[in-house]
Amino acid sequence: MKKRVLVTEPIPDSVKQYLQEQVELDCWNNNEQMPRKQLLKEIGNYHGLITAKDRIDDELLEQATQLEAVSNISVGYDNFDVEALQRHQMIATHTPYVLDETVADLIFGLILSSARRIPELDQYVKQGQWNQSVGQPLFGHNVHHKKLGIIGMGRIGEKVARRAKLGFEMDVSYYNRSRKKDVEDAWQIDYQSMNELLTTSDFILLMTPLTDETYHLIDKEAFGKMKSNCHFINAARGAVVDERALIEALENKEIAGAGLDVFEQEPIDPANPLLKMEQVVTLPHIGSATAETREEMKFFAAKNMLQALNGETPEAVIKELDQL
Ligand code: NAP
Repeated sequence: MKKRVLVTEPIPDSVKQYLQEQVELDCWNNNEQMPRKQLLKEIGNYHGLITAKDRIDDELLEQATQLEAVSNISVGYDNFDVEALQRHQMIATHTPYVLDETVADLIFGLILSSARRIPELDQYVKQGQWNQSVGQPLFGHNVHHKKLGIIGMGRIGEKVARRAKLGFEMDVSYYNRSRKKDVEDAWQIDYQSMNELLTTSDFILLMTPLTDETYHLIDKEAFGKMKSNCHFINAARGAVVDERALIEALENKEIAGAGLDVFEQEPIDPANPLLKMEQVVTLPHIGSATAETREEMKFFAAKNMLQALNGETPEAVIKELDQL
């Protein structure tokens, strides 16, 4: 008898067919997330769960009496309670590498949009305000040859560093909990303490995962150290930043601007003050959202699931479970 897999994210027909060759498949075909209550009620029927946002914790795993594997369609897995997965000896996978270049492209979009005020000037033209020469109040800041500080030099951080060095001839430094000598040598970038990076960078990119350790890593004190011409870019996870402190830093002009793909609450509350700020560029968490890359991520998640259900070691088990 075929094993049963539940997919709680929309997936293309090609991925459905790929899975259906080996498993019995149920798909949640709704843009709204499957209600938690329903997921808890139904999870006991499945051997595999392919998801992106559902919280995988003790509550769910206790109902999941037949579950063998959870496959995230995302590289970040802050929706996983890793200790609960360890307790239940559950296989859990994610989708690293396939999205690195796509997310790095988007990050440069945020850097350029924030520094050169692209969304604001787009509105200026479209709203018919271009009736005189564009003067000083609308000027932005250079990106090329400026200093970029990257907090979290992982797979995506390195792709951004490469673009910054080769394309924009920027001076790039990074802070990471472990030093990456190979990356320093490959791209001629410098390791700095968090303090040095915060106080000297023109652009700061946050690119760590969200964990207990990184929750509110960038707080009021960190914003207080940044230069007043600094543009702050977050494409990691909203809660790595204390958003209240970010709002205050922007309101008090402690920093020049921000480019944000992620927020503490998603979708963002329409009353969030960030939405009213001209110097802030906002995106709806779309770092990896190109048609090609999302399809590749979904295939990768499906492949991880089939490997797990076939008793093979999946290609991308999350690193905390890799040793089990
Ligand atoms: P990665 O390769 O695991 O890189 C993360 C880096 O952060 C690693 O170098 C890690 O250091 C470092 N780090 C972890 N905890 C730290 C801490 N407490 N202090 C300093 N550095 C720390 O992950 P990635 O593929 O580059 O992705 C990074 C994150 O970006 C994901 O977890 C996800 O949340 C987010 N993301 C967002 C989007 C989007 O759509 N906006 C898309 C993709 C990813 P070690 O090497 O020492 O572990």
